[in-house]
Amino acid sequence: MVALDVQKALEEKVKRLAKEMFGWEMDKPVLISNRMKRTLGQYVWEINQNTKRPELVRFQFAAKLFSGGYREEDIELVIKHELIHWYTDITEGRPCHHNKIWKANCRRFEVPDSPIINLKTKEGKSDYKWMYQCTNPKCATIYNRYRRIPKNYVCGKCGGVLREYPLSPIPGPI
Ligand SMILES: [Zn+2]
Ligand SMILES: [Zn+2]
Repeated sequence: MVALDVQKALEEKVKRLAKEMFGWEMDKPVLISNRMKRTLGQYVWEINQNTKRPELVRFQFAAKLFSGGYREEDIELVIKHELIHWYTDITEGRPCHHNKIWKANCRRFEVPDSPIINLKTKEGKSDYKWMYQCTNPKCATIYNRYRRIPKNYVCGKCGGVLREYPLSPIPGPI
């Protein structure tokens, strides 16, 4: 089995859900951020200067969401929460944030209508601190670790170079 790149898999999931929920094509960037600590997902928008209506710029999601500690259905709830922001702002033609219309749309798509989705991590699993992905595109295996892997370690499957993703706050200046 070929492991999919985390970002690619996420982007495909966002596109698929947008299509299933609203029948819309999502063609904006979907990013994974190491810097998002307090929120798991974010819908980034701007006002189009010609139409004066909100427009989607990108979606971004916290790296820790993909650390292996969260259930798949919960990850989908976070994505749907952000997609409904996009849907509500476009259909209303103005930024709606977490207002009544946004909440009504959440109920329609069976997503909790609270601003913060409280996610439980999988039972018996504590939060991983580090994620590594093999940079060999044919392998792309993901490793989740509680401790940092020394720099000279390589992928256990193919010997490829590992890319490091911190899943917890990095102390000190960057
Ligand atoms: Zn929100
Ligand atoms: Zn590998």
